[in-house]
Formats: sequence, structure tokens, C-alpha cells
Amino acid sequence: MDRRIQVMIPMLGEEEATAAADAIRSGWVAQGPRVARFETEFAAATGAGHGVAVSSCTTGLHLALVLHGIGPGDEVVVPSLSFIATANAVRYVGATPVFADVDLATGNVTVETVDAVRTGRTRAVIAVHQGGMPFDTAALRKAADGWGVTLVEDAACAAGSTAYGQPVGAGAAISAWSFHPRKIITTGEGGMVTVDDPAAATRLRRLREHGMNVSAADRHASKQPVIEAYLETAFNYRMTDIQAAVGLVQLGRLAGLVAQRREIAARYQELLAGIDGLTPVRDPAYGQTNYQSFWVLIDPTYGVSRDEVLAELAARGVSARRGIMAAHLEPAYAGLAHDPLPVTERITKDSLILPLHHEFTADDQDYVVGILRELARR
Ligand SMILES: *Cc1c(COP(=O)(O)O)cnc(C)c1O
Repeated sequence: MDRRIQVMIPMLGEEEATAAADAIRSGWVAQGPRVARFETEFAAATGAGHGVAVSSCTTGLHLALVLHGIGPGDEVVVPSLSFIATANAVRYVGATPVFADVDLATGNVTVETVDAVRTGRTRAVIAVHQGGMPFDTAALRKAADGWGVTLVEDAACAAGSTAYGQPVGAGAAISAWSFHPRKIITTGEGGMVTVDDPAAATRLRRLREHGMNVSAADRHASKQPVIEAYLETAFNYRMTDIQAAVGLVQLGRLAGLVAQRREIAARYQELLAGIDGLTPVRDPAYGQTNYQSFWVLIDPTYGVSRDEVLAELAARGVSARRGIMAAHLEPAYAGLAHDPLPVTERITKDSLILPLHHEFTADDQDYVVGILRELARR
């Protein structure tokens, strides 16, 4: 029988289907009570003060920059080694993305790599908890404070990851999260912005809903007619109650999904330890990743290129992925000047993301590692 191993499968059960159906039957399908509950519960689960649900992490990053008044003439330091939405958000507000290199072990920006490209025009940094791997929150938050720049945390992949014993949302001024099916929990599409400051949450709620001073849900709940005002030019970046209904169920699964991913990752690390030239991703000293992405870095001693490994895995029914992309190598960013990014280029060229999901069995894992071992002997 032909084996087919997916790189990722979202964990969706009957409970999600029922919750979505209940939202539809309730007659309230746009942003409403389920979104409000999801915001409260998600903020609590991630250690954040307030949650503001949005249509995606991308729109959440956009609003984070609007909230902080970032615009034309400003520079925002971002890793090139990230999904392209991180850099795009900077362009949405008319500011200039400035690429910082990353650390080889974590794939994340550090105080040193950000400091190396910072200028007098730097107004903000978007640091990414890449693939769920936390960056050094204590070090970067303190440095950003000292530099007087806003630190926006792109936590798209990082629900359930921890740093210094706390969820990565705790102690962050502002974080953006994703519920795309490739992430650890999903609402189909969807995102969340979490903040510590209640005034920031109020402004974000306004920004996602056309600049209205009163939400549609509050207007509906009021016994008296409410005439809304539009306080500023803003956006429609709302999440639906159908999505939030699914998100509430998914949130209940988060701890279990993380625990399972960490077990599978530990077994990968054990099995791969015996293969020369492959370095699997590991927890940093200061925290724990949720292993939303489990990547291995291929050294020249392995003897086979990343693309050849991908092709061989695909030929044998295993869907793996190239490592994290680098925005500066894409046509959309071809004209943008940047300092050399040697570590970014090394990781994006020489790493691959291995299959890891809730239906991935030990037998599947032995099969995948068996192929990698066989390639090493060629
Ligand atoms: C997936 C991802 C995004 C985009 O999330 P969406 O919800 O699809 O908009 C942004 N940043 C990073 C680091 C991501 O991995």
C-alpha cells in the first residue's frame, strides 16, 4: 500500500462541527458573543491582558503598527526569515522594513542582530517567535525599552510556547496570533491581537470595526436606539462568531496538542541524533517551543542537499517542506537594500520541516527517519 504522510493536519473533531452549527443556528454569525468569549479565554490562556479578535494574524500585525502610529518615513526592523506577512505589514502602513539576521539555533532575531541594523528612524521592531520557537523575550523586551522603540511580537505560530516559565503572550506589550490551519490551533482563517494596556484594546476594537465608537453587538444589545459615530478611518478586520465558536473548542485542545507535539519532537531528536550532518531544532535555554514547526538543519557533511532530500521524501509519499522562507529573496522585496543576511540564507537554503501532527504515528516517524538515514549513507 502506498504511504502518504502529510506535513501537518489540523486537529478538528465533531465538537468543532457542532459548535459551528450552534453558532449558525443562533442566528448571530458575524462578530458577537462568541468572539467576545474567545477573546477573554484566549488572552487568559496566553498570559495576556486583553484579546482583540481579527480576521488574520496579518491584519493583526497591520493594526499593531497603526495603533502605534507607524507610517511613512519610519523604519521597522523585521527578520527576513519569516512568513512574508511580517514584512508586508510594515509596507501596509507606508513604513520601510529593515531586515535583521537571525540566530542559527533558534531562527529568531536577537538583541545583537536588531541592534546591528537599527538607525535613528527605527520606530518599531517586529520580532517573530518563529515556528513556535520563542525568542529571548526578557532580553529583547528590555532592549526595545532602552532604545525607545515599540516591540510588536509576531506570535502567529506560538500559542502554547513559553519563555521564562510563562506563556509568550505574558509580559508582551502587543502580540499578534494566527489561527490559519497550518498553525497549532485553527479557526479556518482568523487571528488575535493581545495587549497589556486596556486603552490599546479599546482602540484596536475600533480599528478593526470601521472606526465605530460602539460595536454592532453592543448596539444590538441596547434597549435604546444607539447612533454610532465613526471616529477615524479604519478597517473591517473582524472575526465571525462561527470562527470563534470553533476557536473556543480548539483552545480547549491546545495544551494536549502541545504536549503531544513535544513528545513526537523528543522522539525525532532521539532518532536523528545518530545521523551525521543533521541538526534538529531544540528548546532554547530560556523556554519551550510548541514545535509548531519541527525543522532540521542540514550540514555539508550530510552529503545530500536539502532539495534532494525533499524530492526523495516526496517520491516516497512523505510531504515535508523547505525551511522557513526569506522575504529578501522574493521578487516583492528585490529592490530593498539590506545588510548581508548570512544566517538567514543558510537556514532558508539548508533546513527542512518534517511531518508532525496528531495522526503521525511512531511507525510513520520510523519510516521518515529511515529515509533520512539511508540518504546519509549514500
Ligand atoms: C502564518 C504566519 C503569519 C500570517 O498569519 P495569517 O493568519 O495567515 O495572516 C504571520 N507571521 C508568521 C510568522 C506566520 O507564520
